[in-house]
Amino acid sequence: MKYSDKAKMVKESTTLAISAKAKAMKDAGENVISFTVGEPDFDTPMHIVEAAKKALDAGFTKYTDSSGIIKLREAICGKLLRENNLTYKPNQIVVSNGAKHAISNVCMAILNDGDEVIIPAPYWLTYPEIVSVCGGVPVVIQTGKDTDYKISASQIEAAVTPKTKAVFINSPNNPSGSVYTENELRSIAEVICKHDLICISDEIYEHLIYVPGLKHVSIASFNEDIFSRTIVINGLSKSYAMTGWRMGYTASNTELAKLMGNIQSHQTSNINTITQQASIAAIDGTQQPLHDMRAQFAKRRDYITERLKGMGLDLAAPAGAFYAFVDISALCGKGGDAVINNAADFAAELITKKGVVIIPCADFGCPMHIRLSYATSMELITEGMDRLEEFLKMI
Ligand code: PMP
Repeated sequence: MKYSDKAKMVKESTTLAISAKAKAMKDAGENVISFTVGEPDFDTPMHIVEAAKKALDAGFTKYTDSSGIIKLREAICGKLLRENNLTYKPNQIVVSNGAKHAISNVCMAILNDGDEVIIPAPYWLTYPEIVSVCGGVPVVIQTGKDTDYKISASQIEAAVTPKTKAVFINSPNNPSGSVYTENELRSIAEVICKHDLICISDEIYEHLIYVPGLKHVSIASFNEDIFSRTIVINGLSKSYAMTGWRMGYTASNTELAKLMGNIQSHQTSNINTITQQASIAAIDGTQQPLHDMRAQFAKRRDYITERLKGMGLDLAAPAGAFYAFVDISALCGKGGDAVINNAADFAAELITKKGVVIIPCADFGCPMHIRLSYATSMELITEGMDRLEEFLKMI
């Protein structure tokens, strides 16, 4: 049988695969500590759950408009205006099954075969896969510690070719936690406009920033030009501990929203109706649970950064999201019997010797870095850090 060449290019998601391995080890009774998950360990706030229950009782169980009910899209417009200074109408919003699906809709709607998409590394591992499956060509641009793992306007400028179609910007970033400043984004916006490109701005971690005075700014908010060529990606998974509810969305110009809406209408139709009702409660209801969750993440971030630095590891305190991103290249050549040559070797040794699971970042564009999610309890972080410290003494 001959299957799709495009489908065969898609790699398995290493984060999901490693999380599944950690779970299987736990289920087998092994004492495993996992720093892998990309989801808050908190429960979905009660008022959101209650709204879902109410929706069920009220019979919200049927198909809706495939891009989402108007009330929800109005709530999203309200949020984008309130928090991001962006003015959209409901027909510019497409509600999809998570931000992942939103990104998939974007790539399907904008890419023709051979179109290049600039992806700054480190990147969320899904970006290049979706670009490729849609016929595009991921153009990965490396960033480094010197720029806090952020791409500069001049790096984008240098990477532009006649085939360049779009640029991904992800702030706060998964896996580095880096947050772009307003000035950095303004310079990037200028290059994007100058070369008539599209900006895909993934803002899903916007509420999770821990540096006093550092604020999330949407690149779409600077002027009419960048506004009309930016697709804002967002969703409720991270900010409201709603990963399993599957709610994401795009905000874009009307023409693109229509294209994406058409695609979605033939692919998945609307996201589940109950989630849509619950999402209104999340967006318009009390934001206290989000503030409480962020305060917990901030404590863990401070703790994990201090512990990792105390072990002599190479990292900057992550400004946002819930990941610590560590350069392990100084450890290469170590390891005794099993020599460590890269992050994958490091991860394999750590799990074997100490039962600690972390993400090696080759699939995030950085084979010498590891990612540790601190979306897990302080007790487990403490125990995991103790084990990591012992491991580093062993190798
Ligand atoms: N963007 C980034 C940067 C992410 O880290 C994730 C989740 N890991 C997503 C998008 C997708 O989130 P969801 O599909 O749950 O909305």
